[in-house]
Amino acid sequence: MTVTPQERLQQVRDRIIQAEKRYGRPPGSVRLIGVGKVHAAESIRGLVVLGLDDIGESYVQEALSKQQLLRDLAITWHYIGRIQSNKTREIAEHFDWVHSVDRIKIARRLSEQRPAEKPDLDICLQVNLQDEASKSGFGKNDLYTAADAIQNLPRVRLRGLMAIPRASNDFNDQRAAFAQVRSLRKALTGRGYALDTLSMGMSGDMEAAIAEGSTMVRIGTALFGPRPVRSNTE
Ligand SMILES: *Cc1c(COP(=O)(O)O)cnc(C)c1O
Repeated sequence: MTVTPQERLQQVRDRIIQAEKRYGRPPGSVRLIGVGKVHAAESIRGLVVLGLDDIGESYVQEALSKQQLLRDLAITWHYIGRIQSNKTREIAEHFDWVHSVDRIKIARRLSEQRPAEKPDLDICLQVNLQDEASKSGFGKNDLYTAADAIQNLPRVRLRGLMAIPRASNDFNDQRAAFAQVRSLRKALTGRGYALDTLSMGMSGDMEAAIAEGSTMVRIGTALFGPRPVRSNTE
């Protein structure tokens, strides 16, 4: 029994709607970002023509070539991968959002390199919740300094926080991790930062993320099926 892309999209949308209802979130308050990394441009096209507006990508060169192939479509592009300094110009020029800002230096480069004729680049600070060495992101204690340094940079707009908690199959563990991100945002807004975005939740934990206030879920597998093995590295 094969599941069509249309059915997958509907299933994911239903999961979001159910979670919004269940956790008292206003309808439509969670934005679906389809994570197309490693998937072919044509698979992305198939979902965009069905009404998916937002696409997330993790590898710069791969994303740029897909953007070329899909340039006839109106897509909002989100960069969600690791950021090397030498890739910031391409990111600043070709994306609408960057979720994974993990160093002040990277934010400065994106600010300097964002073309003046484009709208401000929307950015989130990635939080490394469990201080995992294998993951990028600001430690909790560095967040205030980072927000302070980034808040007033031209051509970038600090919108919120992003996190990728350690994978867990336990709903309460998932929720506890996302609750930390929620309270970090609250602490920052309490200090005057106008953050309206929490980018959190993937295929396996979107309900827990929505329960804790996620405004953007980044969904790959549940939308596109399993990811093919990636052949080349950047
Ligand atoms: C791959 C990826 C996702 C999507 O993960 P799925 O489990 O396939 O939904 C979300 N966020 C980031 C940062 C990713 O790299």
